[in-house]
Parts: sequence; structure tokens; C-alpha cells
Amino acid sequence: MDYSYFINTHSSRRRPAITRELTKKHYNAPKGAISLAEGMPNEMTFPFENINVNLKDGSTFSISGPELGASLQYIPTQGYPQLLQKLKEWTLFSHNPPNWDKREVLVTSGSQDGISRSIEMCISEGDAMLVQEPFYAGTEAVLKSFKPKLLAIEQDEYGMIPEVFVRVLENWKVKCDENNALRMPKLLYINPTASNPTGTTMSLERRKEIYSICCKYNILILEDDPYYFLNFSDKLTPSFLALDTEGRVLRFDSFSKVLCPGLRIGWLTGPKQLVQNVELHIQSSYLHSSTLSQVITYNLLNNWGFEKLLDHMSSVREYYKGRRDLTLAAMDEHLTGLCEWTVPDGGMFVWIKVKGISDVYDMLMTRGEKKLITFVPGHCFMSDPAAACNFIRASYSKAAPQQIEQAMKLLAELIREEKDL
Ligand code: PMP
Repeated sequence: MDYSYFINTHSSRRRPAITRELTKKHYNAPKGAISLAEGMPNEMTFPFENINVNLKDGSTFSISGPELGASLQYIPTQGYPQLLQKLKEWTLFSHNPPNWDKREVLVTSGSQDGISRSIEMCISEGDAMLVQEPFYAGTEAVLKSFKPKLLAIEQDEYGMIPEVFVRVLENWKVKCDENNALRMPKLLYINPTASNPTGTTMSLERRKEIYSICCKYNILILEDDPYYFLNFSDKLTPSFLALDTEGRVLRFDSFSKVLCPGLRIGWLTGPKQLVQNVELHIQSSYLHSSTLSQVITYNLLNNWGFEKLLDHMSSVREYYKGRRDLTLAAMDEHLTGLCEWTVPDGGMFVWIKVKGISDVYDMLMTRGEKKLITFVPGHCFMSDPAAACNFIRASYSKAAPQQIEQAMKLLAELIREEKDL
């Protein structure tokens, strides 16, 4: 594949920063090598003696001595080497992608960071870009400044619909043939598992179909998959990365939903040339993701091993599954007849369609606030956020069960009042 096709002119001008390259060398320097090159502060001046971590399962670890020094120091942009190694092993273990030797992994500050920099690397002002509709508001926020022409692909309960995908591409092709200024889209953004906001998991058949369409039209797939392990079915659906025989997937992983978001640990896996280019974006912005977070995460993974990490993820999954069920019960009780919804396959959101109302924005943002209930208006997840929208995203993650019940009761009241206005 010619990856330069996906890198925009602006990004193709990036070059490695010599100081960052030297930091990389410092990590691999032979014993006895002397470096007066580093711009690193001396660890002797750091005020921390050690950092003790106590986990809820009773296990503990302490970060001290040289490891503490390293955890408070600058590191190579790609990531803390020990964590990087673990993330590679974990990605191989959980996805086993073909042609592993042609891929690279990069630690990012949450997956949002990887998504944002990858889009910045690829897209130019006014480009067409393919997105599933509805789609994650954080991606819309990245795209907005590029004023892209968003080609939205409708979804059903199995995810993006391949026939619609082909139709959208073919219609756009006709426009491109008529107007030389237009170009075919190079990117597809997809959130295939327990999608935010719909909770839908794309079936394996659909994934295979979408992948082969992307091969045909030479499209790079941005696979944003932070809820991969929060899919409620017993069997996980293979990722696009797992299917990627051609090397056209940039995959964004995150520990935000399965460990905690405050560590800001995400990682990007994809073809070497593209991942190395994203690394250059980070080299020239925040240098690297927090070393301390990376060292804590490394120790956690090292102490637990993958089996215990999987156990932990199962317990997180069960927690949200219980939350989903009690939310659906409250919705059945209060919203039947007023709204429609699909059962979320995973994650922490339910996507609700309000019947008989064309736009929910004012209802939620004015009268809803007076009732002290907050939901996200569906507009935030649409390719045209200014258009009327009668969908609502409700999160069942944090509110207590009685609060969820009360919120659904008040939402029903709100909808009835809105209809009477
Ligand atoms: N993608 C999706 C679909 C999300 O829901 C989120 C968090 N809301 C993110 C990416 C970003 O997560 P993080 O940066 O914490 O990994």
C-alpha cells in the first residue's frame, strides 16, 4: 500500500526532532556511553521518595529507586518501553492481527489523542470523510475545523449498512467525476463495538463486508474501539484490526473504560509508516504521554498478568450489564408508547428515539434542566448537528439505580408536557 496517499501535505512535512531521537538513543545506549546531550532534569532534584499503590484486590506495588526516577522523567515519544512491550503483547493476544511485523504501536494520551492526531495527519480542508451515523461527538469535534464533507452511513442493529456504504460511495464518485475539485474519501471513522451513542456492536459479517468495500475503494479505516471488552455478549466480535490483511486499519485502544480515564492511557496500532508519522505529531506537541501513568499501568499489567486483566474487565462488563438491565426496566415502565429504543449490546449508553416530537433540543436544554435532569441531545452525534433531531443519549454509568428510575419518570413527564405545548 502507498501510505503517502493518506498523509496530507502539511503532515508529510514533519521530520523527527533531533532531541527526541536522542532521548530514544539514550534508552538503548550501550553501557559506559556518556551523554551530554540530554535536556533531562536530574532525578536527584525530584521531591518524591516512592509511590505506593494499593489495589482494591489487596495487591500492592511500590515504585521506587531507578524505576521511580524513570517514572518521573522524560521518555521516548513512542512510550515507556516496558509498557509499550506489554501493549504489543496484549494487542497480539487479543486481536492477533495478520502481518504483525509490518505494524507499530504508539502510546497516546487516551484514545482521543490518537484519533485527533490521525485525523489531523490525513485530512485536508474540505475533504470528504466517511462516518457512521450517529457517531462519537469527540470525533465530530476534531473534524469540524477541517470543514469536511461528511458522508454519513446509516446504521441498523447490526451496525453500518454495507449497501448504504456502497451507494454513498458511488453517488460521491459521480459527483467527483463531474467536479474535478472533489476527491474520493480516504477515511472511514468507525466505532464498531458498543458504539457511542447507540450501544450497537457491528456483526462479524458486516465487518467483513465493510472491510472489503474499503479495500475496493482504497479507504483507511479508523477503528475507535474503547468498548471492545465491554460487549455484553459472551463472545467478542473480531476487530477490524484482526481482519486487516491489507494494512488499512488504524486502531485506537484505551484503558479509560476498563481501568480508569484519569491515567489517560490509550494506544494506536497500525501500519508502521502511519504510526511513525503520528509519533512526529506528538514529538512536536506534548513530547510523550505521562510517564507516571505509563509506569503505573505497566506495573498493574505486570502484577496482574493478562488473565487477571481479563477477569477485571469481565467484572466491569457485568457491572454495566446490570446497569443496562435496570435502565431498560425503568424505560419499559415509564417510556413505553412515548419512545423507542434498541437494547444496547454493550457500553454505557442507550439511544432513545422520542416519538411525535421532531426536535428534542429545547425540551432537554431548557425545561429538562428545570426538572434537574440532563441527557445529551442526539444532535451532538449527527453529521449535521444543526438539523432537527428527536434522539436522546442516556448514560447508565454513574447515576444510582433510583436516580435512573426517577430520571426516566421525569423524562416521560417532560415529553408529555412538550406534546401538550
Ligand atoms: N472514542 C469513544 C467512542 C469514546 O466514547 C471515548 C470517550 N468518551 C473516546 C474515544 C475517548 O476516550 P479516551 O480518550 O479517554 O480513551
